Amino acid sequence: MTTAVGDAIASVRLGRYAVPLATPVSDAKVATGRQRPLSRIDVLTCEIGTRDGLRGLGFSYTTRAGTPAQYAHAKEVGEHLLGQDPSDIGKVYESLLWAGASVGRSGVATQALAAVDVALWDLKAKRAGLPLAKLLGAYRDSVRTYNTSGGYLQAPLDEVKERASRSLAGGIGGIKIKVGQPDMREDLRRLAAVREHVGDEVPLMVDANQQWDRISALRFGRAVEEMNLVWIEEPLDAYDAEGHARLAEALDTPIATGEMLTGVPDLVRLIGAVDVVQPDVPRVGGITPYLKVAALADHAHAQVAPHFVMEIHVHLAAAYPREPWVEHIEWLAPLFEERLRIEDGRMHVPDRPGLGLSLAGRARDWLIDDVEFHGPGR
Ligand SMILES: [Mg+2]
Repeated sequence: MTTAVGDAIASVRLGRYAVPLATPVSDAKVATGRQRPLSRIDVLTCEIGTRDGLRGLGFSYTTRAGTPAQYAHAKEVGEHLLGQDPSDIGKVYESLLWAGASVGRSGVATQALAAVDVALWDLKAKRAGLPLAKLLGAYRDSVRTYNTSGGYLQAPLDEVKERASRSLAGGIGGIKIKVGQPDMREDLRRLAAVREHVGDEVPLMVDANQQWDRISALRFGRAVEEMNLVWIEEPLDAYDAEGHARLAEALDTPIATGEMLTGVPDLVRLIGAVDVVQPDVPRVGGITPYLKVAALADHAHAQVAPHFVMEIHVHLAAAYPREPWVEHIEWLAPLFEERLRIEDGRMHVPDRPGLGLSLAGRARDWLIDDVEFHGPGR
């Protein structure tokens, strides 16, 4: 005897939001004149409703440019979702890839699909009545976390130190500061001052946001070898896998990179080449492709430290064998009703089903545009 098992996607709502930052921030890309300060995060949301009455929420994001294109692409392919079984995530994802095949399998096209894919995983975990981490298979119910948002380059050193103290007092377990300024001596001065301020016991990372050449990165790495840094992040151009591999070989300090890469094949090149792989769910096209990267990284015994969007990554970090660091950046928190619990250096996986997130009422203030599709008879 067989039992009919299945549900169908009955509605899809896509939303475009611009979430302002309290203070615009600058990393090394601004210090070298390549970008302007970052003043907001643009977000593409996807809410999926099913015939059985379940709802899933997912989102993707961009900084500075790209969300209008993501939104346009999601609108074009989104109607293909109606009537599909939301539990068949691989099949649904593939159908959207084929619908947009002529614009490729990385970049804006798959970042648009990321919002849909995250909503499908959220929905599946809700159907199971489990937090997403548990649905995937968790190794822990909380994950070590470090703060990034207090260590940007526009902030004077005293402010960076004050923010670090506040983060640590608030239960954050590590501190990352930005480097990669045109004058490396300034980076070294700030880093030494922050190390002295927080003490030798606090895990400390630096992030150069791709602004060094290979020689400068090696010189910096040698200069800080005794500082016991957790890692040096993005010392080189994001696509210079070979340069990163050489640095990782030459230095004891671990080398981390991967956040800018927007497709699985690009990230796979880093596995075995660098010490810490840093995938980002929305940038790589969703949880489905992220899990491929994570499986390959695990197979190679690599460390993983996902980039940004802690609201999604806390679940994926809980489900990775070798404990990752989750990046604490609070910029998207106002978009959601719920807050993540952070204490004793750790971020706790929400005990609510799915991602454990819902859009806050005030999200309406930042809505730029939205659209909703409905299936027949609903
Ligand atoms: Mg970074």
